[in-house]
Amino acid sequence: MSNFNQYTVGWICAVDTEFIAAEMMFDRILEEPDDISPKDPNGYKFGQIEGHNVVVSLLPHCQHGISSATATVKDMLRSFPIRHVLMVGIAGGAPNLDDDIDIRLGDVVVSSPGYSNGGVLHYGYGRKVQDEADPLRFETTGFLNQPPMSMLNAMNLLKATHQMKGHLIQEIIQEALGKWPELKQELRRKLERPSIKTDKLYKSHVIHVNGQTTCDNCGYQKSTLVSRPPRDLDDDDPAIHYGLVASSDSLMEDAKMRDRLSKEKGVLCFETEAAGIMNHVPCIVIRGVWYYSDSHKNDIWQGYAAMTAAAYAKELLGQLRPDRVEAQIRLIDRIDEAFSSVNKGVQSIKMDLHQDNTTHWLLPSGPSINHNTVQEQHHHETNQWLLRNGP
Ligand SMILES: [Zn+2]
Repeated sequence: MSNFNQYTVGWICAVDTEFIAAEMMFDRILEEPDDISPKDPNGYKFGQIEGHNVVVSLLPHCQHGISSATATVKDMLRSFPIRHVLMVGIAGGAPNLDDDIDIRLGDVVVSSPGYSNGGVLHYGYGRKVQDEADPLRFETTGFLNQPPMSMLNAMNLLKATHQMKGHLIQEIIQEALGKWPELKQELRRKLERPSIKTDKLYKSHVIHVNGQTTCDNCGYQKSTLVSRPPRDLDDDDPAIHYGLVASSDSLMEDAKMRDRLSKEKGVLCFETEAAGIMNHVPCIVIRGVWYYSDSHKNDIWQGYAAMTAAAYAKELLGQLRPDRVEAQIRLIDRIDEAFSSVNKGVQSIKMDLHQDNTTHWLLPSGPSINHNTVQEQHHHETNQWLLRNGP
């Protein structure tokens, strides 16, 4: 049985697919500690990733958004001595080819501090900020805390490794899918990489045909789609982009607003929870891109995007040294296990000695012992029965 004190890494997800992707990254599944506060309503999964004991939490069903994320992280921080928080999941990408920001579906965006920001921008969209003169006006509530230094150092180490050797995201995903042969085929298909033909970036002025569940009527011509060459063999695919993540309560589905925030603020992707966490604890936001923050949103790339983000998070944890506290807790656990094992050995020796003494008392043997009377013979037989059958 694990102990709540062992968990110093918190991993927060917003939707089921992200939660599944997180669990699939576990090197080892751990049992739920029995000492979690009954006042904590969160649902958790417990596992070990790259030497860290990780607790994964999912936001309440159908309660996505900033305030729900805040409540979840508060309860998690009350229940566990969390030192590192990762917000891992999916988001809408903001490609900006004019500035050479070539974001594609399945790519990963990681919140990373810039010269004047901590990596997450809290903006108001969908609030009453539009005006007729400037229908694309938005309000920024401000830039939020940057991730803790230990995590930034791990991120920089990983970035340098990736520049030299490339990342391991595809390998980690394949390994995870291979480790779960019992996965339902429908879910497996959802988590695997979709055909590249389904990755379409519509020009900003092309709006999705109202009421249609697919983009079949949105056009596939040069006039409607942005032309992008396939990635070279030498290019990272998926690519990892470091920079600013925009966070709000509503999904971004407006390509013109997307472009404006991208050009004016340098936003790389849009999501709906990080601001609720960053207000309480510094965290790192890792997002797989599942659509282009426009009206053509569909869920074809959702599962794979959740997997690429989770795989990056696993690689990052591999660079993060377990805390001294975490290491001490594990040392104490190992000492406890050693004592427990010695104790079991002592108990076993005691039992053996006790049994020997009992046997000797019940069945004294030797040449001088003769069962002369019928009573003594009967007593001897009774003792033998007792030894065979127990008291
Ligand atoms: Zn469409």
